[in-house]
Amino acid sequence: MLAAMQATPVTTHVVPDLGEALLRRMDTPGPRYTSYPTADRFHDHWSRDAWDAVLRTRRGAREPLSLYVHVPFCESVCFYCACNKVVTRRHERSGPWLDAIEREVALVCDRMGTLQPVGQLHLGGGTPTFLSDAELARLLSILDRAFALQPDAERAVEVDPRTVDGERLARLAAMGFDRLSFGVQDFDPSVQKAVHREQSVESVAELLDAARRLGFRSTNVDLIYGLPHQTPASFERTVRQVTALAPDRVAMYGYAHLPSRFKPQRSIDEATLPQAADRLAMLQAALRLFGDAGYDYIGMDHFAKHDDRLAQAHRAGRLHRNFQGYTTRPGGDLVALGPSAISQVADHYSQNTKALPDYEAALTAGRLPVERGYALNAEDRLRRDVVMAVMCRGEIVPADIEARHGIDFARHFAPELAALGRFEDDAMLVRDADRWRVTDLGWYFVRAIAMAFDQHLRTARAAPAQFSRVV
Ligand code: SF4
Repeated sequence: MLAAMQATPVTTHVVPDLGEALLRRMDTPGPRYTSYPTADRFHDHWSRDAWDAVLRTRRGAREPLSLYVHVPFCESVCFYCACNKVVTRRHERSGPWLDAIEREVALVCDRMGTLQPVGQLHLGGGTPTFLSDAELARLLSILDRAFALQPDAERAVEVDPRTVDGERLARLAAMGFDRLSFGVQDFDPSVQKAVHREQSVESVAELLDAARRLGFRSTNVDLIYGLPHQTPASFERTVRQVTALAPDRVAMYGYAHLPSRFKPQRSIDEATLPQAADRLAMLQAALRLFGDAGYDYIGMDHFAKHDDRLAQAHRAGRLHRNFQGYTTRPGGDLVALGPSAISQVADHYSQNTKALPDYEAALTAGRLPVERGYALNAEDRLRRDVVMAVMCRGEIVPADIEARHGIDFARHFAPELAALGRFEDDAMLVRDADRWRVTDLGWYFVRAIAMAFDQHLRTARAAPAQFSRVV
C-alpha cells in the first residue's frame, strides 16, 4: 500500500506535439481548480456564525497556516482585469483599509487564539505596492503581533513594475519579503496600449537584476496570451524577451474575455482579440520556447526553471494547489484577510465581502466580514481528493482513495471512469495495474481530466462559460 501511495513523477522536459486538432477539441471553458468545489459554488447561506465556529476549531492547532492579505488598490485600471480592486490615486484610502485589516486580525485571533504558526505569507491584490513603506511595515507589525511567522516562512509579494524601483525592492527585502511576482502580461507597445498597461522591457529587466542582487529567493513573471492586438509573432517576441530576463518562474494565463462580468473588459474592442487559431499558435510557441530556455512545464499555466523548488516538487509528485495556484507547501489551512479574500479551514471555505465600504463597515461594527462560503460534505471531500490528485500528482490511485473514503472506487465512479475513456483514446491518460496516470500529453489538459470528477459542473447552476478556457 505504501508503494501505491507514492506519487508517480510527471516528466515534461520534452514538449509533446499537441496537434491543432487536439487543441481545438480541448479548447473549452473549465475551472482552474484552485479549490474544490470551485468558488462559484459558494453560497450566501454560509453565515458569520458558521465561520466563527470553524475558526474556533483551530484553537491550539500547531499545523502551520498560510496567510493571504488582499490589498485592493490600484492606481490605474488594466482593461483585461478580472480582479477585485479599487482604482484610485488617493493613497489616503489605504489607511482605513489597514485599520479594517487590524480589526479583522483581532477578530480572527479572538476565535483561533494568537501566535498560530505561519509557514507562508502572500500579499496580493490589487497592487500591494500601492501601500507606502510605512503602511507595509504597519501591516507586517499587525501580522507579527498576531501570528508566529516561522523563520523559514515564505514571504511573497505581488509587484506592479510600474510602481517600484530598485530602492523600493531593497526596502521590501529588508522587511523580510523573499519572493517577488511581477505583472508583465506583454511587452508589445500596441498590446500594452490596448490594455492600458504600459511598461518597458528595460524597467522590468532592471527590477529583476535588482531582485537577484538583493537575494530574493524566487522571482516570477506573469504573462497573458489572447490579449487585443497580440499576434503569434508579437507574443513570441514577448516570450523571448521574458526568457532573456530569466525569472525563476513564469505564469502564463489565457485571457478570458467576459465583459458582462468584468467591467474594465468592456474597454477592449473585441475585433482586436486574436482568433482561436492564433491563440493556439501562441500557446504552442510559448510551450516550445520556454522548454528550449530550460523551463519545466509545471502544469496549468506555470513554468519554472528546472532547478527551481516548484520544478523539483513537480518531478517528485509533491505539488500542492491553493488559491494562488501551484505551491510547494502542503495544503493546510489558509487564513485570508481583506475584501473578497477566500479562507480555507479544514473542510470549509469562507469568502469576505467584496465591496471595500461593506468590508470596512462590517469590521467597524465588530463583525467578521463574511459574505459567502461553503461547507464540504463527504462527497465533496472525496471528489476534492480525486481532483487534487489529478491536478497535483497527475494520477489517481483507487486503493488509496478507497482506504481514505471507504468507497468502492469502480462502483462509485462508474460514470466518471466511462468518461475517462476519451482521454485514454487521446493518449492523455493511461491505466496501470493499480492507478490511472496522466501522460506528458495529458498534463497540458489536466483540468479537463479533473473536470470528469466535478459533480457540481453537471448541475444546473454551474455555467461553464464563466470559466477560462482549458487552452
Ligand atoms: S490587473 Fe492588477 S494592476 Fe491591473 S487593475 Fe487589475 S489588479 Fe490592478
